[in-house]
Amino acid sequence: MKDELLFCPLGGSGEIGMNMNLFAYGQPGEHKWIMVDIGVTFADDTLPGIDLIYPDPGFIVDKKENLLGIILTHAHEDHIGAIAHLWPQLKCQIYATPFTAILIKEKFKEKHIDITKYLKIVQLNGTVNLDPFKIEYITLTHSILEPNGLRIETPAGVILHTGDWKIDPEPLIGDKINSNRLQEIGREGVLAMICDSTNVFSIGKAGSELDVRKSMLNIMSSLKKRIIIASFASNVARLETAFYCAEKTGRQISLVGRSMHRIFKAAKQCGYLKDVIDPIDAREAKNISREKIVYLCTGSQGEPMAALMRIANYTHPDVFIEKDDAVIFSSKIIPGNEKKLYKLHNQLVKEGIEVISEENEFVHVSGHPNREDLKEMYEWVKPQCTIPVHGEHRHMIEHVKFANEMKVPNPVQVENGDIVKLYPGKPHVFDKAPSGRLYLDGNISIDEDSQSIKDRKNLSANGYIEATILITPKGNIHKSPLLTFRGIPIDDTDEFIYGLEDVIEETTKSFKLGSKKQEHNLIDALKIACRKFSKEKTGKKPVTNINLVKI
Ligand SMILES: [Zn+2]
Ligand SMILES: [Zn+2]
Repeated sequence: MKDELLFCPLGGSGEIGMNMNLFAYGQPGEHKWIMVDIGVTFADDTLPGIDLIYPDPGFIVDKKENLLGIILTHAHEDHIGAIAHLWPQLKCQIYATPFTAILIKEKFKEKHIDITKYLKIVQLNGTVNLDPFKIEYITLTHSILEPNGLRIETPAGVILHTGDWKIDPEPLIGDKINSNRLQEIGREGVLAMICDSTNVFSIGKAGSELDVRKSMLNIMSSLKKRIIIASFASNVARLETAFYCAEKTGRQISLVGRSMHRIFKAAKQCGYLKDVIDPIDAREAKNISREKIVYLCTGSQGEPMAALMRIANYTHPDVFIEKDDAVIFSSKIIPGNEKKLYKLHNQLVKEGIEVISEENEFVHVSGHPNREDLKEMYEWVKPQCTIPVHGEHRHMIEHVKFANEMKVPNPVQVENGDIVKLYPGKPHVFDKAPSGRLYLDGNISIDEDSQSIKDRKNLSANGYIEATILITPKGNIHKSPLLTFRGIPIDDTDEFIYGLEDVIEETTKSFKLGSKKQEHNLIDALKIACRKFSKEKTGKKPVTNINLVKI
């Protein structure tokens, strides 16, 4: 039997977030596997109490003795965020470039896991040999330090896994995209390209960090009072732009928010940001007049706990904002975040604070490839097969159409769990792996249909009643039950309690307690009666709990 080459995304195909991709090579049943990226996605209001979501790794956990390693392309959370949560189930080597490795170490440190033995640092444009895979890191440009594509060589052919990228002619920090190597790889022949689909609907080019810097300097030169810039901490070129513009406009700069400090430190540690002015502590910045200071802070998406929200709410201990100051959102308005972001914009403009965002000024460029960038990549790489990933279904289907326009012989459309046979034969989806999502609930991983979430949704929508009923040693039911309720709209509390007591008394009358079965029947009858009563009185059918306590 011939060896085969497989690709299987467990996350990130059909969504933008929680990327997890698998490659396998070998005889059926004896495959060797590698994983590329292990990211998270963030929960919205529909999942009360959940912050993080990551792919269910069950399929690969079952084969972990054949998992040769986790290869990380870059340090965005949608590519590395799950590593410290899921690695304990996989216990394999991890490969990352220096900047990514520093952030990975922090994640493991928070979980009190010593990862030094397992974390292998790969130099930029370096290689990793994991027989039968030979992996070469290729420097690309994106919106973070050290974004890498991967050339994955196997006996069956070469795969180019792009990771996240765009073509930035002036990335400002870090190397330019290694287009020479990409063209060389194209000439040598590429069996399949696994490619970023995020901006497939956007025409033209994604644009350059240099253009943003020029525009930001222009804007900031005209601002007279306090300037607060919100952006993603991980975009170190943008961070450097804030420092550069502060210096050029004769201002000091102060970093606000934990991840700003974290990324600043990590970038410095890797030898970046050598020529920027020193930031000053926010406590010290309080003593500087408002036209002489720039704050660079977290919270560009209106996150409730981030620095910008606390500043806007006047709850930040060190940073103050007032009329005629300006807030620059140097970031994308991520779809889904509009509501909370516009609420924040409104809150600021109502106070007379100027809001500058990508809606009214040129203060942001995307880190993902627009159609012109994609076109160039296809011309360089000339893959035999394209598999669009890193997109919702609409992006990936459009990307397949785009690949057809680019005359790619075999574009393959996938979603999470699809197993593509890349070799032998024409690439096609031939099997399905179990896939799904896990939620981080507190510090426990739970399934999507877990009871804890159902319960919380139910509680938050309907409220809660608890009745504790005392039973005497002779099996008689004590007259006054103990009642607790939460989250129920009640006009007259006394009337509600008396009514509920009557209902309970009425229901218990017809029961004689002697056996467990009768107790269960009573509990069920009381639940129904209490919920019915509440529905009549308030329109709410609360979660109801009945305790029978023998005294
Ligand atoms: Zn990214
Ligand atoms: Zn990404």
